[in-house]
Amino acid sequence: MVDFETLARPGVRGLRAYDPGHDLVALRRRYVEAQLVELGSNENPYGASPQAKQAIVDALAGIHIYPDPLGGDLKRALAKHHGIDSANLLLGNGSHELLMQFAQVFAGPGEDVVASKFGFAVYALAAQAAGAELRLAPALSRDAAMPRGHDLAAVLEAIGPRTKLVYLANPNNPTGTWFGAELFADFLARVPEHVIVVVDEAYAEFVDAVDFASALPLVARHPNLVVTRTFSKAYALAGLRVGYAVAHPQLIAVMERVRESFNVNALGLAAAEAALADAEHLQASVAGNAAQRAALAQALLARGLKVSPSQTNFLLVEFGDDAGRIESRLVSRGVVLRPMGGYGLGECLRITVGTEAENRRLLEALDEVRA
Ligand SMILES: *Cc1c(COP(=O)(O)O)cnc(C)c1O
Repeated sequence: MVDFETLARPGVRGLRAYDPGHDLVALRRRYVEAQLVELGSNENPYGASPQAKQAIVDALAGIHIYPDPLGGDLKRALAKHHGIDSANLLLGNGSHELLMQFAQVFAGPGEDVVASKFGFAVYALAAQAAGAELRLAPALSRDAAMPRGHDLAAVLEAIGPRTKLVYLANPNNPTGTWFGAELFADFLARVPEHVIVVVDEAYAEFVDAVDFASALPLVARHPNLVVTRTFSKAYALAGLRVGYAVAHPQLIAVMERVRESFNVNALGLAAAEAALADAEHLQASVAGNAAQRAALAQALLARGLKVSPSQTNFLLVEFGDDAGRIESRLVSRGVVLRPMGGYGLGECLRITVGTEAENRRLLEALDEVRA
């Protein structure tokens, strides 16, 4: 038989598929009675807006027809929400799809893509799949105020003559750290205008730090800036796959050429529009997360663990040499966290902030397995 590995393009040959963590479906079946506590994927435990769920039910009558290939209604709602134009918007089957496509469109063999060490794993995949070289800027130190966070000065330094694209996450997954508005404005002013800067703001809705600002208002002045957002996290629609990018209309128009015509499905379009309109529900999720994030961080610190500051719905926690053993013993007690070996952080676990009851079960299980 032919070796399909050798048929694949060079960028794809060395690639390892995205690691989604545990096989959750299998684990759910195994722990039906114990009720699995799933704190591994940064999903929103408060669930989607009731209005979004109703919009899905209403949209069911139309699922025999193709969805709106332009996503016009959702784009108009997003444009109004952010004070931008529909032409600034690109819709994706989750923002993951768009993050991959930016590299496909703008970077290739002989060119490079810059990201930060401990940045979101998809950026490396995107660069490699496009056949471009990945240049990783060193992260801030483990002991910095933002442990392992993006070092924008180092990112700037990593940009070279062949750099086409820069990926940043603010706040970042898996570190939970963020960079401030002034640092970023300074950074952006120094990036050559032919280098596209993608700022992934998947967790922006959760942020309450006063030094943080979304990069969205900078899009009007910086045609090389792209900001991505998602309905998967604070809006609690991860199962439907809806994300979007905001950028200069001409950049969006280039991206539109490779977008699969019906990439966002009808239920996703309807639900996202309704979720966006339900500000009250979003606010409740964000407030619940903020309160539980603080309480969980406090409880972990009280147990002598090192917890990174977080503006997201998860915490990066250092467990030392024990991390792997603790993680697997937690799974056997029906509590799922995300191992960080893939990020070169084998001593850490990433913990999604759950509801009060979920966090309590996590802490109880943790006390058992660490005893
Ligand atoms: C969860 C996440 C995404 C969102 O992915 P979707 O494809 O929109 O569900 C994007 N970036 C980061 C950093 C994330 O953690």
